[in-house]
Amino acid sequence: MQQFISHDYKRIPLYKDVTPEQWGDWRWQMRNDIKDVAALEKVLPLSEKEKSDITEVLKRFRMAITPYYASLIDPANPACPVRLQAVPRLPEAHDDEVDWDDPLHEDVDSPVPGLTHRYPDRALMLVTNICSMNCRHCTRRRLVGQDDVHLDEANVDRAIEYISKTPIIRDVLISGGDPLVLSDDKLERVIARLRAIPHIEIIRIGTRTPVVMPMRITDELVAMLGKYHPIYVNTHFNHPKEITAEAKAALDKLANAGIPLGNQSVLLRDVNDCPTLMKKLVQKLLAVRVKPYYIYQCDLSKGISHFRTSISKGIEIIENLRGHTTGMAVPTFVIDAPGGGGKTPAMPNYIITSNERRVVLRNYEGVITTYDEPRQYEEDCGMCRLCDDEPWLRPTCGVARLLEGSQKTIEPANLARGNRVAGIATEGRKDRPRKGGF
Ligand SMILES: *Cc1c(COP(=O)(O)O)cnc(C)c1O
Ligand code: SF4
Repeated sequence: MQQFISHDYKRIPLYKDVTPEQWGDWRWQMRNDIKDVAALEKVLPLSEKEKSDITEVLKRFRMAITPYYASLIDPANPACPVRLQAVPRLPEAHDDEVDWDDPLHEDVDSPVPGLTHRYPDRALMLVTNICSMNCRHCTRRRLVGQDDVHLDEANVDRAIEYISKTPIIRDVLISGGDPLVLSDDKLERVIARLRAIPHIEIIRIGTRTPVVMPMRITDELVAMLGKYHPIYVNTHFNHPKEITAEAKAALDKLANAGIPLGNQSVLLRDVNDCPTLMKKLVQKLLAVRVKPYYIYQCDLSKGISHFRTSISKGIEIIENLRGHTTGMAVPTFVIDAPGGGGKTPAMPNYIITSNERRVVLRNYEGVITTYDEPRQYEEDCGMCRLCDDEPWLRPTCGVARLLEGSQKTIEPANLARGNRVAGIATEGRKDRPRKGGF
């Protein structure tokens, strides 16, 4: 059996008089968030350089570390992966030339404040800007750790109204910030209203509390969530060290309430950019009934460039998982395409080549095999009729429509070739400065 370590918070002098009741109370944890150098120093040894670096970063981004998450930091290891996710480092104070403020265009694709409707059948609702802990690698930095606000009642009303009037949405993802910093009552008011909408099939909650403040998962909370099934919870473990006895207890409560659990990791330099470590993480997640769902390439948000890896590192991680361990443990590695393109998967290539008769495949061992395509299939089944009864379920957009034959091409709106034909010259205009001199 796997061992799950429970950390003794009393070894930290600052917390030696804290009672287990206080420690286990999520409101105590949030009230005692570590927010400045003076408080952090009482928990971790800091060099003078670190202190001045953190002070510099705090001018721009705030810090908040729950006492629980701080207790997971190895004080003797400056490169501790928990520490790197919690304690600011100087590169945060600088922008990289590739940084964007809102790389995922979550504000652009927002029909009403707090709601992003990017994909056809699902919407993302950001119910709060607050988190119990401010991750240093947060992609929503333009919101989280800036103004501390929950989505106000009027905007909750507008979001619910939009969702009610948009029957194509069958899935609402409640995120933030961290929706579980809301009281049970406040959260229930949102969930109950979503559940009352007939076309909403599933409700999902994205939360990092099982990782950074597992005491938030109370019996009362899971009893409330259990009234609104099907409810899914996706959480955000990045390192095996985060799967503690306390985290397991929280996940057990959720799973025992019938809530399917998923995990979304972010690929982070010096934290988890190692195929072996990632294998350990995904296997340990399955042992606590969490299905690894996504690994995200680090976004192009501001102040997180020091966390970025190459995309190839993610592909290498998948190469080291698929076949080497159960498919249950293999998440999808995605790049959330800048500009609102959405989650775009990247993976090793397993198809070597193909013709009409055969597909040549390679497996994880490097064995190359052939699959003989069924001879009659194309002729008999080329035109699918299975979904004739429900044509509205067919794709309404995208490359899938090219395969279906209902659309022939997809072209950029401002295609130069098209403009030439229409007499609009956009290339090599005389008024544009030329490169080089002739
Ligand atoms: C990630 C995301 C979703 C949910 O995507 P799934 O692939 O269904 O988990 C929905 N809306 C937005 C804007 C997202 O970024
Ligand atoms: S929990 Fe999520 S939203 Fe909150 S700070 Fe961490 S990454 Fe950002």
